[in-house]
Amino acid sequence: MPALMPRPSILSIEPYVGGESKIPGVNRIVKLSSNEGAFGVPPGVQDAYAKLATELHRYPDGGATALREAIGARFGLDPARIVCGNGSDELIGALILSYGGEGTELVMSAHGFVMYDIAGRYAGCQVIKVPERNLTADVDAMLAAVGPRTRLMFLANPNNPTGSILPASEVERLRAGLREDVLLVLDSAYAEYVTRPDYDPGTALVEAGTNTVMTRTFSKVFGLGGVRLGWCYAPPHVADILNRVRGPFNVNAPAMVAGIAALAEPGWVEKSVAHNDEWRTKVSDGLRALGLTVHPSEGNFILADFGTAERARDADAALKVRGLIVRAMGAYSLPQCLRITIGNAEECGMVLDALGAFLRGRD
Ligand code: PMP
Repeated sequence: MPALMPRPSILSIEPYVGGESKIPGVNRIVKLSSNEGAFGVPPGVQDAYAKLATELHRYPDGGATALREAIGARFGLDPARIVCGNGSDELIGALILSYGGEGTELVMSAHGFVMYDIAGRYAGCQVIKVPERNLTADVDAMLAAVGPRTRLMFLANPNNPTGSILPASEVERLRAGLREDVLLVLDSAYAEYVTRPDYDPGTALVEAGTNTVMTRTFSKVFGLGGVRLGWCYAPPHVADILNRVRGPFNVNAPAMVAGIAALAEPGWVEKSVAHNDEWRTKVSDGLRALGLTVHPSEGNFILADFGTAERARDADAALKVRGLIVRAMGAYSLPQCLRITIGNAEECGMVLDALGAFLRGRD
């Protein structure tokens, strides 16, 4: 045992398992494990990078002014309330360290996004995981879990990995039932993919009060997972706190130009969302026809239930043999499930073929 020890809560953290990108002995890899966009990098981003190359000796604009203005113009938001980060993960961590810590509680739903748990433990919060209904956050149970020491509540809407969603009325009910000294973080990383009309990413709730923040990302529909760029929309007093604690140049210059170029890419989001609608339905229906339970999803991924952990593990292995990398769900206490990102048409076809062969016993 080394004499040097971290705070005890840190030892309870399981490292975040990101998507693998190699399988020994397999040449062509199809990576469907990190919910990345189906169409690669927007072409305008590549041009913007080429122009930036001769300016890389300069520090970036620490306030990310041009990027915040571009985000504000695109989404109809006040740029002064936007804070950008090195992925929305950075902002999630900064919010937890700012408002949580030793002696406080953080409430999340049982199968909520795993970073709330990791960042919560890192900060020393007690993380309370609230049972769900049909793999969907249960508003009454979430509110009932709030105690005097609760300072943070996280809701991914849609949620990763379950794909489930709460309609705007339920999110409003959640916010209305919270004390003003509990920060509600609405993580809308997959907002663009939602097709249900009764959905709201959280903008109105942020503007209506003092204790709601919405986080967003460029990693999904905008195709910039490798860049690490996220943002949040916050009440002015929360934006002020984040601007005090974030690194002075937390968003690098390539990330800023990439974000601005991705926002300007004509038709990119529309094309991506239309593709996702079509193939999310085709893959879900195809897997259901093969006898699997597929949970309804509003994201760019689906959660397929194989009944037992062993069967899910075998299916994962059968996919890997064909070069297909999907995400095992042990870290989410759903070992009987695999999460599969909706890739391009060819990739979706490969998933259906591979699981068809596996389920019919031919693999
Ligand atoms: N929130 C949710 C719900 C996610 O699924 C992810 C990505 N896995 C993130 C946040 C983090 O996104 P980013 O790449 O912006 O850090």
